[in-house]
Amino acid sequence: MPKDSNSDTPILDETLARLDIPDDARKMLHAPQRRTEVALRIRHDDGTMGIYPAWRVQYSDVLGPTKGGIRFHPGVNLDEVTELARWMTVKCALMDLPFGGAKGGVQVDPKKLSRQELERLSRAFVDGFGDMLGPNRDIPAPDVNTNPRIMGWMADEYAIITRAHQPAAITGKPLPLGGSEGRVASTGQGALLVLQEWARRQDRDPGDITVAVQGFGNAGAHFAVQAHKAGFKVVAVSDSRGALYSEDGLDPEPLHREKEQGKGLDDVYSDTSVGDNEDYTSIDLDALLGLEVDVLALAALQDAVTEDNVSDINAGCILEIANGPVSPDADQALADRDVTVLPDVLANAGGVTVSYYEWIQGRNGERWSEEDVEERMKDRFERIAPQVFDRAEEDGTSLRQAAYAIAVERIAEAISIRGDSC
Ligand code: GLU
Repeated sequence: MPKDSNSDTPILDETLARLDIPDDARKMLHAPQRRTEVALRIRHDDGTMGIYPAWRVQYSDVLGPTKGGIRFHPGVNLDEVTELARWMTVKCALMDLPFGGAKGGVQVDPKKLSRQELERLSRAFVDGFGDMLGPNRDIPAPDVNTNPRIMGWMADEYAIITRAHQPAAITGKPLPLGGSEGRVASTGQGALLVLQEWARRQDRDPGDITVAVQGFGNAGAHFAVQAHKAGFKVVAVSDSRGALYSEDGLDPEPLHREKEQGKGLDDVYSDTSVGDNEDYTSIDLDALLGLEVDVLALAALQDAVTEDNVSDINAGCILEIANGPVSPDADQALADRDVTVLPDVLANAGGVTVSYYEWIQGRNGERWSEEDVEERMKDRFERIAPQVFDRAEEDGTSLRQAAYAIAVERIAEAISIRGDSC
């Protein structure tokens, strides 16, 4: 991942310049509160020592304990983790959650580690950053290349080092270890709720809305499956290995089942027995980005659309399920062409919202049903998403600018009320 793409803050700068924000808040929002680096040391299976650089950035705890995932990626670096932590700060504030923002990263290619090595690395993260973590301090969760199993190891390690069960210290855990119903599908579910709000405001029927999904991983696949169930016409899906397309729409569910068996979409394509739609074709990965669809959902990595390929985009609306899939330059170019961008801080906030529900359940010793989680999530999105659309209309800005305006005002208000303790 390019380092430089994460080192500027145009949208935050623009928001602060546009709104009447007091100076304290302006300064604090530009300064990450705590950035810690640890060299994680683990023994490899062959007896050699592995050293993996790792970071945890607690960007701001003004609204509560800091919250955000941990990613394992060979390209991750401090600038990127800082940017992601800033986005978490905005996201939690926008969603009206009692959390500040944080993010963690380990510079590693997890595919090169055995299961045991991965477990050692996950535990080493908690040992290395343990003093900074805790249900009232900083609460990690999954992000790119981390999953419930890894969160389970981390929660277990946290219980060992603190000598106490603290299920609210880590979210995104497996169900038997105190995870929440609905957490795995939550990011996709939240994205769907945002898309439905957009469709309602367009006065359009889901059946007339075509959707292409880049990134058929956890978030993207759950989104595709649920969007199809909700009546949207999902015409294309891709992962890093293949892209499938059907003009009449395809059923993502059987494809998702195959993916869960560890197959790539290229394998799925060559296996003609998969799915009811035998009429989908294989297309180029880049061709998916350029499809003439109503909605292009970006659920892969950062910077999927940049100034280099933004002119290839033919969608009327972009749904940002990944964090930062549209670069700031591309965002401006899309705005100039009247392409609506449903911004990441709203569109992928389903994950952290259900993390919040998991945190409450962990603190209170409760277990909520899947229906209960879905209901609460729906209520929250049906409250927050219209605020963003209305604010954009009132201010004559993009939805991203509106989302930032709402979040920044919430944080600034808290800063001014807290006064000198901040
Ligand atoms: N990694 C997810 C995000 O970027 C979830 C974070 C969380 O649940 O704390 O929003």
